[in-house]
Amino acid sequence: MSEKLICGVDLGGTKLSAALFKTDGTLVGKETVYDHSDKQWDDIVSVIAELVTKVMDSCSVMAEDVLGIGVACAAHIHFKKGMIVTVSNFAHNIYDYPFVDKLSVLLPGMRIILDNDANAQAFGEFMFGAGKGYHNLVFVTVSTGIGGGIIVNDKMLRGKVGTAGEVGHSIIDIDSDVKCTCGNYGCAMALASGLFFPDLYRMHLKKGLESSIGITAETADQMNGQTIEEGMKKGDPICTAIVENSADVVGSTLYNIYKMLDPELVILGGGLMSFGDMYLNRIRERFLSHTHEMMSEAMEIKLAETGRDAGLLGAAALVLE
Ligand SMILES: [Zn+2]
Repeated sequence: MSEKLICGVDLGGTKLSAALFKTDGTLVGKETVYDHSDKQWDDIVSVIAELVTKVMDSCSVMAEDVLGIGVACAAHIHFKKGMIVTVSNFAHNIYDYPFVDKLSVLLPGMRIILDNDANAQAFGEFMFGAGKGYHNLVFVTVSTGIGGGIIVNDKMLRGKVGTAGEVGHSIIDIDSDVKCTCGNYGCAMALASGLFFPDLYRMHLKKGLESSIGITAETADQMNGQTIEEGMKKGDPICTAIVENSADVVGSTLYNIYKMLDPELVILGGGLMSFGDMYLNRIRERFLSHTHEMMSEAMEIKLAETGRDAGLLGAAALVLE
């Protein structure tokens, strides 16, 4: 094969995929496993090397036909050193794990780039999705957690170590008693994302709101993006309050982004965007309620377009940066 391809690896807590794409983003081949996250990290790296080799073999692609491998990982990344600083969605925690060096041993001669999953999705949207043609944008994913990635003058803004764009940990409510995974209270993601819906449900119960779907403090652990959406459709006041408040928190977060970066565009992705038009409209309204007369040219807010394989495509896109 003479046409050069790009390889993406999406390394998450539940799913590990490797795929080959053409440089225009067209999917060529893909392999996925679901049994990796309990393994030791050296074994996870071996599984990645096997998956990449398998997808190359199945597409009859040689290593010299692949421009590089981009790996998107749900983790804190030291970008320049190619290290995973720490993870939370895997059975075994690691600190300063030399991921790129380890994978390079198993895939010699191949260029490997490691970044966090939100940065990869941001770059994928910039190259192939809603951000095509823009030069300055911020991608925000609202899902189990909240993550983000920043493009400035056509380049990823990574900061000193690689954690730039982690808007989910910007603190929205300094008096909040909802504790985030980072140890702080009142982070945007602790007030608005799926992982915290059980805590938020209990908080509303404690404040005196009544559940109309029979959820108690003891059973609130079952609340996630899907059950909250179902509860909202059934008219449960707590589910409705959580979704509305989530939209307000995201809207205020977008305002903070606007004040700091003044981007042309913010792209919203992630599972909670399936809450629908009501959710997106409320995010926009909240954002605009803060801007008053200060916004002479509107910052655009659009939904992500790269879809189901956003993480994979974004990872592969990193090769083209
Ligand atoms: Zn946090």
